[in-house]
Amino acid sequence: MVARTVVVRLFAGRRVAILGLAKSGRAAAESLAGGGVEILAWDDNPKAREGLPAGCRAENLAEADLRNVAALVLSPGIPHSFPEPHPAVVKARHAGIEIVGDLELLARAAPEARYIGITGTNGKSTTTALIGHILHQAGRAAEVGGNLGTPALSLAPLGPDAAYVLECSSYQLELLSTLVFEIAVLLNITPDHLDRHGGMDGYVAAKRHIFDRQGADATAVIGIDDSICRGMAEEMRRSGPQRVVPISVREPVAGGVYVENGRLIDALDDEPRPVLDLAEAERLPGSHNWQNAAAGYAVARRYGIAPEVAVAAIRSFPGLAHRQELVATIDGLRYINDSKATNADATEKALTCYRAIYWIAGGLSKAGGIVPLEPYFERLRHAFLIGRATEEFAATLDGKIPFTRCGDLATAVAAATERARAERVADAVVLLSPACASFDQFANFEARGDEFRRLVSELSAQ
Ligand code: ADP
Repeated sequence: MVARTVVVRLFAGRRVAILGLAKSGRAAAESLAGGGVEILAWDDNPKAREGLPAGCRAENLAEADLRNVAALVLSPGIPHSFPEPHPAVVKARHAGIEIVGDLELLARAAPEARYIGITGTNGKSTTTALIGHILHQAGRAAEVGGNLGTPALSLAPLGPDAAYVLECSSYQLELLSTLVFEIAVLLNITPDHLDRHGGMDGYVAAKRHIFDRQGADATAVIGIDDSICRGMAEEMRRSGPQRVVPISVREPVAGGVYVENGRLIDALDDEPRPVLDLAEAERLPGSHNWQNAAAGYAVARRYGIAPEVAVAAIRSFPGLAHRQELVATIDGLRYINDSKATNADATEKALTCYRAIYWIAGGLSKAGGIVPLEPYFERLRHAFLIGRATEEFAATLDGKIPFTRCGDLATAVAAATERARAERVADAVVLLSPACASFDQFANFEARGDEFRRLVSELSAQ
């Protein structure tokens, strides 16, 4: 029988501890149990300990006797250094027990497969999905997951001519010790999650681990449009063994891939040549997405995929849900679901893409609210406010942009539709890009986006 998921056999006959029993911890338990180990499993949240996977025994790892434990498998969400290591991690370190993450276990269980890793502050999921799409369109065997969607250890087993395309969070990268990415992508670095990494230096160091152990036959694709990544690319070009492929949406880069006047330029090998008008990549709107397209193209070329095949796949990329997702066009009015935009920075990316916007925003606001979005207010026809941020956003918009307090999403979709239909502006969009977390009214951003899609489908049915 062919195994459905990767089986980790390296600890056969021994004991392994798993801390964190969400999706990735449970996938690890299944892979390890298949490999004949005894598993001590724990999650500080009692709900997460319910219905333990087969082969697991619940044991509070901060208090348990860890003497015969071969390894501690740590979920990416659990701190192992900053702000404070989890007590079980401290204990394992004292006992000299190896601490590993799911990506590392995958690499050891499937050492013959090829590995492509993607990290960065923003655009990881989009770029990972895009690379997976290009590989599949090119007829290459590939499994896509990691931090995005399917946990690494729930992916199917792969042999030599197939690739794992893995989205890597900085936490996951810190737990690698043998995995080598044949192609590693670092898109960008801006301040984020600084508490977990002891400040900016720690965060940068964590991201840099994606290039660890790369040799002369490996490739580092690096976005050079921010100063940190640019510095890293320069330093690696000078002294790193791997081939560095810089990418930019701002300037021409020799030996790299860049965007000029909305066209993707391939300068990898010889004379720069335009390969794609990015307006044709409909599901990758905006210059932020052009960075993702440039990265995807660079990876495809370094993986040996022909330019025209890569370009056709970028054109046909279906996009990811909740990220500037075109849900429907009704009587010429486009409805865009950008529920993933949980802060002003992400919403700004969407606002740059449209000119006549009926904007649905609100929820639980982040520090600074929507003040940084003022330069884009001229694009807003009207704002429809929902959730707890209503009064804060109303105060920012007051006297600049007309707005309506809608309370909930259903009211906002109805009000935005009514107004847009009455005004009949060319090229208008109803855009859900909340610049807020969703937890005041929804379980998560996916539930918020799904509700938007449902409301819009009701409109289309009418
Ligand atoms: P991640 O997985 O890193 O969170 P996503 O691909 O899910 O990234 O995109 C999340 C949001 O980040 C998008 O909705 C968009 O607003 C923004 N974004 C996407 N790609 C980029 C990029 N290359 N640079 C900056 N922002 C981006």
